[in-house]
Amino acid sequence: MTNRAEQLRPAAPITGSGAPSLFGMRPQDLLAHLLAEGVPARIDQCRRLLAHVLADGNSDLDAIQRPLSRSFRRDVDRLTDRARLEVVERIEDPADGFVKYLLRSPDGALTEAVRIPLEKPGSWSVCLSSQVGCAMQCTFCATGRLGLVRHLQPWEMVSAFLTVRDETEGRVTGAVFMGQGEPLHNYDAVIQAARVLSAPCGGRINAKAISISTVGLVPQIRRYTAEGHKFRLIISLTSAIASRRATLLPVAGAWPLDEVVQAIREHAAAARGRTTVAWVLLGGVNDGPDEVAALKERFAGMPLRFNIIDVNDARPDGFRTATDAERTDFMSGVAALRIPMVRRYSGGRDRNAACGMLAATRYETDAATT
Ligand code: SF4
Repeated sequence: MTNRAEQLRPAAPITGSGAPSLFGMRPQDLLAHLLAEGVPARIDQCRRLLAHVLADGNSDLDAIQRPLSRSFRRDVDRLTDRARLEVVERIEDPADGFVKYLLRSPDGALTEAVRIPLEKPGSWSVCLSSQVGCAMQCTFCATGRLGLVRHLQPWEMVSAFLTVRDETEGRVTGAVFMGQGEPLHNYDAVIQAARVLSAPCGGRINAKAISISTVGLVPQIRRYTAEGHKFRLIISLTSAIASRRATLLPVAGAWPLDEVVQAIREHAAAARGRTTVAWVLLGGVNDGPDEVAALKERFAGMPLRFNIIDVNDARPDGFRTATDAERTDFMSGVAALRIPMVRRYSGGRDRNAACGMLAATRYETDAATT
């Protein structure tokens, strides 16, 4: 997987100018880049400039109010890129206020981000993609059917975030890497994007309000645990029965359930808090008492928190949403194990914006052809 991943990692910045984008940088990154180019920069200059561009959201370097020499601005202008992803389509689901953005990179790659309304009125989270397509082929996911086209670069993820933040008057308080792609398959770029989003000179999002999901890549979970990041890791379990999980999540062929459980155990011990486990609820598949019994056997006493997400209905793959009775029974069974849980609402389903529906399609084009 590593070799294939490296082949799909763009070697050079994918920006219009070919220069690295400011949107993927923290002050120390900008400083290192400028010094490597022979510019005698200082870290305080880099902080001020990035605060203007990223935290304040103003790409016009001439509009910087903070004291910065003209020669420094010129050097940054010459040696970096500040273009955003192009917004190809913006579709709002009037039923729930979710908004899906179809975004185009300079190389033509299409990706998606989703604006998620939070409970507190007027505040938002953003669901970000980490790859164009995905290699993991989860059986209930439209993205998986695309295959992996390429990894996204950090600036592309941050640019998607800025697009959403711009139209919410800055009231974006969280970000989740749960759009197209398996975030830990693009580990370094996702961690760098999360660092930029949480930086005081960057997105200014509390690190604990940034969630990174994984379908269960064990080596990367272990690396993440060892590195001790403050972002929240969400590990997709979806079945506690090894054979069923292997049919739903083909990645389980490489990293079987036993190893995932062990990695969860290690993460829970290191994080000294509850580890979040995601469960895509598939009606009639993984919502029965056999799953509750398997959970009890494998996770008794482990500090978990459950995120239960309904698979979306009317699917070409034959999966269906659990009925209210099925869901209630399953959730009662999990609650009896003293595992706290949240039922995550996956909105935007009328506009193909919900979990497992991101496939870089234009809604209008799509709607016209179906
Ligand atoms: S659910 Fe996530 S990891 Fe699985 S195929 Fe879809 S995008 Fe990839």
